[in-house]
Amino acid sequence: MNMEQQVVIITGAGSGIGRETAKLLATMGKALVLVDFDDKSGQDTLHAVKEYHQQAIFVQADVSQSNDVKKYVDAAKETFGRIDAFINNAGVLSPPTLLGDLEEETFDRIISVNLKGAFLGLKYVLKEMEQQQSGVIVNTSSAAGIQGQPYLGGYAASKHGVIGLTKTAAMEYGPKGIRVNAICPGGVRTNMTKGLASSPEENGPLRRLADPTEIANVIAFLISQEASYVNGAVVPIDGGLTS
Ligand code: ADP
Repeated sequence: MNMEQQVVIITGAGSGIGRETAKLLATMGKALVLVDFDDKSGQDTLHAVKEYHQQAIFVQADVSQSNDVKKYVDAAKETFGRIDAFINNAGVLSPPTLLGDLEEETFDRIISVNLKGAFLGLKYVLKEMEQQQSGVIVNTSSAAGIQGQPYLGGYAASKHGVIGLTKTAAMEYGPKGIRVNAICPGGVRTNMTKGLASSPEENGPLRRLADPTEIANVIAFLISQEASYVNGAVVPIDGGLTS
């Protein structure tokens, strides 16, 4: 294990933003711990990453379960000895519906994965990074984390919560040498948005969805030394949608 090599955990690595980020970071020579609920898609990302001959493992885990979160944190430590960066990215969307029609169980599930999952990842990874006195974290929020999102109220609530966690973690752990930031993608061409029809105008001034690589590039920057003074930032990557 090369001490220069950054060790990065990515949750939700099986698809979309997570998979593109894994592929990009592999080309940059990072050691990767890929985490996803879906075994098949996680293995597929591992396979894609291995084409770059990088050191990588896949851990099947549900980010909303603390035992599973401990499992991927322990796997990172046992395999690579430390955690330099954490991409806290796994998430789910629900079918669009008015708040009055949103089932309680559906709301609970979204909060459990998107918000509690983000919290549990932070909780266990920050403990490790605190001991190391170094580390950098990127939480995946959303444009729906900084403005309301009609028909996706549960999702918007969960992603607003992710920003609260991000800003608090940045303030608590900045003095310990750890940076924590959030990204806020608008519409991205992934499995998550497949079922959501949108007109070009609804996608904002650039009139198109983002390619997941356009999100991965910003994540790669935020975990790099070039972003050494960026902490507690909420970074829209939405083509101007929320401007
Ligand atoms: P996006 O990249 O836009 O966030 P995707 O749906 O393409 O959307 O990717 C989300 C990823 O998160 C999927 O691979 C999915 O399997 C994963 N995921 C969803 N829920 C969980 C969970 N509870 N634990 C771990 N991974 C999850």
